[in-house]
Amino acid sequence: MTSSPYQHFLANLHRVLDRITVPGGMRHLLEEPQWVLKKEITITRDNGTKATFPAFRVQYNNARGPYKGGIRYHPAAGEDEVKALAALMAIKTAVVNIPFGGAKGGVQCNPKELSKREVQELSRAYVRAFVEHLGPDTDIPAPDVNTNPDIMAWMRDEYEKLTNTFSPAMITGKPLAYGGSIGRDTATARGGFFILQEMIERYALDPTDVRVAIQGFGNAGANMAHFLHDAGYTIVAISDSQGGIYSPEGLDPVRIEKYKHKTGQVSGEYCTGSVCDIEKMKLDGVRHVSNEELLELPCDILIPAALDGVTTEKNAERIQTRFILELANAPVTPAADAILERRKIRVVPDVLANAGGVTVSYFEWTQGRSGEQWTAEHVDSELKRIMLTAYKAVRREAYREKLSYRQAAFSIGVKRIVEAMRVRGWIT
Ligand code: NAD
Repeated sequence: MTSSPYQHFLANLHRVLDRITVPGGMRHLLEEPQWVLKKEITITRDNGTKATFPAFRVQYNNARGPYKGGIRYHPAAGEDEVKALAALMAIKTAVVNIPFGGAKGGVQCNPKELSKREVQELSRAYVRAFVEHLGPDTDIPAPDVNTNPDIMAWMRDEYEKLTNTFSPAMITGKPLAYGGSIGRDTATARGGFFILQEMIERYALDPTDVRVAIQGFGNAGANMAHFLHDAGYTIVAISDSQGGIYSPEGLDPVRIEKYKHKTGQVSGEYCTGSVCDIEKMKLDGVRHVSNEELLELPCDILIPAALDGVTTEKNAERIQTRFILELANAPVTPAADAILERRKIRVVPDVLANAGGVTVSYFEWTQGRSGEQWTAEHVDSELKRIMLTAYKAVRREAYREKLSYRQAAFSIGVKRIVEAMRVRGWIT
């Protein structure tokens, strides 16, 4: 069975390529990124020593428009993972039909061990390392795991200094005060929420009867928890990298957020590190769960919103949900997909479910180029229109071709990329 993230991408790609007619040369172009850029970046630590980190920018395909994709700071952000994420970005931008290709960046580091000043130095060094490959018409980064609007601002500032330009559209996910778009901070969750609401209506479910478990309480997971809670869903479990909490009666994300701010963990109301106040937990009907346990809890919707590869052939048989909405990228491996398909658990794939982030990045890029400022209402209604159009197209393709939603989304995305390569005359 395949094992690395890029091999997982290839497995999904090949399932599409085996069904549609694609010239041999194009097949080859889709199997490898156009560019895999690697650098070592060095910063001076606060204690005066030097530290060097591997840094990557992978540009998978730009047939449909400039490369587009976030930058991740994480110890596991190696070449293979960044390649897979870059390829997924190209499929995603094609599924929601916005005029971008796909790319991704990564720095293999543990940002939790770096001070704010060190993170700023690292971020500026990243831009210096890749400056000739970036730009508003070339390759447009954005935030991802452990990167945020402050980092995007430092990166834009560094880029503008190096190129002596005014370039608000060279990066997205910026702070509002420095060229950001209203709604970008919540866009990934908001886009997934629109799809989820549409699905719930279609299955004639009442949100108050729907139990949701969310793995990850960062940008994607925490915002989703708030949207769902406000709409009346019962959030039965939430976790972060330290583990999570479960309550069949439902959890309040506002309270969890408050304690996470105070203590650094979602279980902070009950636990200090791994030591928990069992009495208080019993009183509140709450129990501590590991990230692995969270995935196997009984619920109606499971939302992985942390890291990739968490649902594999090892735990897919034990998952007890009706739907999986992938806010994280690549949380379900192809082997797990096959099991979930057999078990009739409907997976809304990453390339559709979390495309709200890149969609509002597209709005931000458009605003950066035109100098316009969109209202919150305009962002929200355009995001909803794009997400639901994509969702309905995937649903139609799945129904017509008897495919899973992942295969259907890949099928739509790959066909659009292939068509762009064809009309551009890349392969005759
Ligand atoms: P983030 O850094 O804001 O949050 C990540 C969360 O995951 C944190 O709560 C962290 O504690 C938790 N976490 C880390 N390791 C974990 C583990 N082993 N088990 C459980 N939880 C763990 O990142 P984010 O932006 O929310 O991204 C989360 C996922 O969503 C990633 O897969 C990312 O690629 C994807 N995504 C994000 C965006 C976006 O706009 N932010 C867009 C598309 C996809």
